[in-house]
Amino acid sequence: MLFGEIAYGPIRSRRLGVSLGVELMPLEHKLCTFNCVYCECGWNEQVQKPKLPTREEVREALERKLKGIRSLESGVRSQESGLDVITFSGNGEPTLHPDFKGIIEDTIGLRDKYCPKAKVSVLSNSTQLGRPDVVEALRLCDNRILKLDSATDEMMRRIDMPVNGELDVKTIIGWLKVFEGDFILQTCFLRGEHDGKRIDNTSEEELAAWYKAVEELRPKQIMIYVIDRKTPEERLEKLSREEMERIAKPLIDRGFDVSISA
Ligand code: SF4
Repeated sequence: MLFGEIAYGPIRSRRLGVSLGVELMPLEHKLCTFNCVYCECGWNEQVQKPKLPTREEVREALERKLKGIRSLESGVRSQESGLDVITFSGNGEPTLHPDFKGIIEDTIGLRDKYCPKAKVSVLSNSTQLGRPDVVEALRLCDNRILKLDSATDEMMRRIDMPVNGELDVKTIIGWLKVFEGDFILQTCFLRGEHDGKRIDNTSEEELAAWYKAVEELRPKQIMIYVIDRKTPEERLEKLSREEMERIAKPLIDRGFDVSISA
């Protein structure tokens, strides 16, 4: 599933509420530094010169959408109704865009002008957090929703299949620490098989490592979720709500704010 517009929606997101999506990656194919077995956009493709929307194109598309939303809202009685969030996600990793910081600055200006109650959120796979411009841009947002699917190198590589095969969990955790807990941690829990190898971030050992990472990072919120749509690797299992509640419980008992999408 690919998003074919720079600004799309609003749609009701299971995790974020009424969300206007913004696409910074190519509209024709996925572009990501991970190649997750569960990615709703499918597997990565080899493309020589990916065409990204320009900063100006993003600003124009977003302004058009926000104007439309505001005029719709002014036609109905409530000031309460409307957009909850402007979300950067879509056909890959949004922080890969070379003008990411400028685009976030534009977005905040447009949000303040047209829909001041909406939050600006970025769903990111955390792989670009070594870049100061990306960290600065994410700090400007209301919500940085940052991925850590496993706290062990082996399982992170099996699930997320980083394009940079050298990337390790210790590095990612080190990057996440820069936010001093002021971020939302996102983790997809799943089991299955890929390429003859077991996929499972729910084993006792896996959960122990992940709980330890959560304790170290102390995120202000944790979003855990299950696969929801068709995945490129078909041999994956969707976990039950009960199992997700069991995974969340030790953290809830320790005072963490955990939301479950299952
Ligand atoms: S990080 Fe997101 S976009 Fe990239 S492969 Fe994983 S699920 Fe897909």
